[in-house]
Amino acid sequence: MRLLILGGSTEASALAREVAGDARFAPTLSLAGRTQAPVLPPIPARVGGFGGVAGLVAYLRAERIAAVVNATHPFAARMSANAAEACAETGTSLLRVLRPAWTKQPGDDWRTVADMAAAAEALGAAPRRVFLTVGRQDLAPFAAAPQHRYVIRSVDPPPPESLPPQASIISARGPFDEAAEAALLRDHAIDVIVTKNAGGGATGAKLAAARMLGLPVVIVARPPLPPGERVPDVAGARAWLDRVHAALRGV
Ligand code: NAP
Repeated sequence: MRLLILGGSTEASALAREVAGDARFAPTLSLAGRTQAPVLPPIPARVGGFGGVAGLVAYLRAERIAAVVNATHPFAARMSANAAEACAETGTSLLRVLRPAWTKQPGDDWRTVADMAAAAEALGAAPRRVFLTVGRQDLAPFAAAPQHRYVIRSVDPPPPESLPPQASIISARGPFDEAAEAALLRDHAIDVIVTKNAGGGATGAKLAAARMLGLPVVIVARPPLPPGERVPDVAGARAWLDRVHAALRGV
């Protein structure tokens, strides 16, 4: 069964590794190409956009893809919408793998906002020291709040033109642990954290560290989801693939 995994998340890589040795599937992992040196699992990979819905429809037909697993990041809204539309048009089975969002725990001081511009505004007028972990594609709105000092962490260094004026960069790839996150927050005298509600364990330790240190967190809520079948993890995706494969064979 020809399978397309839309990647860019730890779940996509884990699923790709799991199906790599499974003779029932001929998988391809697709990446947008945002990370300079992605860690690639042992299956064929393609890199770069498809060219919108029309491009994805053409790809699904040309490659005779029977099933698509959308395991993009929870904030990859465009790709998720395109996948839903293209799979509907071509009659391709589609599954969304979406890890649960982080939820507020006792002791958390969270302010949930709808988007990145609202996050920048929520920092307030008085200068603060901000730990910004929103990914390097989403820094532009913080130029509108230049009074703050930003410590920005991303996998690859952000383009200089996207940075707010007072910024220092930490290039690092998760997973991160709580003790190291607490040390980082203390060392940089951070007053407030800004993050997307990505969910998952790899980058969740900063929230536990914030709770321990009594620091506030501005958290950007997830974008709305297109309708469709959804599972929270790789085990759910495996079970779905088993079912789709069995249905295709008529057993
Ligand atoms: P997006 O806004 O939903 O997608 C923008 C465009 O990038 C899509 O329309 C598509 O281009 C292309 N694209 C996205 N994911 C793709 C994939 N897996 N394979 C091929 N093309 C893809 O997504 P994004 O926020 O730019 O994220 C891009 C990638 O980074 C995704 O793979 C995502 O999983 C990963 N990522 C995102 C975040 C985040 O916070 N957004 C964080 C970590 C990792 P065409 O229309 O030309 O097909």
